Amino acid sequence: MRTQMATEAGRTTAPSEDRALVGPNLLAVLDGVTAKPETGCEHGVGWFADQLSAEILRAAHLEPGEALKEAVEKAAGLHSGSCDLDHPDSPSVAIAVVQVKGDVLRYLVLGDATVVVDTKQELLVVSDTQTKRTAGAKASDVEHALQGEVALQDVRRVAVLSDGAARAVDLFNLFDWRQALELMAANGPDDLIRRMRAVEKEDAKAVEWPREKISDDATVVYLDR
Ligand SMILES: [Zn+2]
Repeated sequence: MRTQMATEAGRTTAPSEDRALVGPNLLAVLDGVTAKPETGCEHGVGWFADQLSAEILRAAHLEPGEALKEAVEKAAGLHSGSCDLDHPDSPSVAIAVVQVKGDVLRYLVLGDATVVVDTKQELLVVSDTQTKRTAGAKASDVEHALQGEVALQDVRRVAVLSDGAARAVDLFNLFDWRQALELMAANGPDDLIRRMRAVEKEDAKAVEWPREKISDDATVVYLDR
């Protein structure tokens, strides 16, 4: 299997709060929720995304839902002494995880991250853009995740994206998901981000495509067999 990754900050003036993970048996994209002025946390969203990423890799032997629950608990433990984790705007991330274990591919999506799985039978596109659910300080957050599994032998390719990258398809309609996978197979995931940035630049005042952020942190992990 071949894995490729592309990530680019939405602005040149601030570090990206997206994280991409490629572990021995899992892929993940984390997208830190833009911090409010008050969060109860002295560390920040980037720090939180880093800690959660590290804990997910440590828990990668577990199934995605269990791994994320454990990672959330461990990350919370790292700052429960110094920060108010009951604050409603405590740092959190939208997250998508894909895990290959034995003959099964499992996926988990919490929030507006996207998993696309191209199988011999169908194209699965999984995202939760309707709710504001994210993974923050409480393991119970993970109960809202969308999860599923596919027989590995049926999987042709997989993409995991933050919403800042998925908007190439679901906001700008530059291509449909199947075409997006074709593009990534041919040119790599960085080409998807490059083409999307060109459109964002052309519509720099968000007139043609109304959107809150002109450009958002954009991350893609792409896997094919
Ligand atoms: Zn903190």
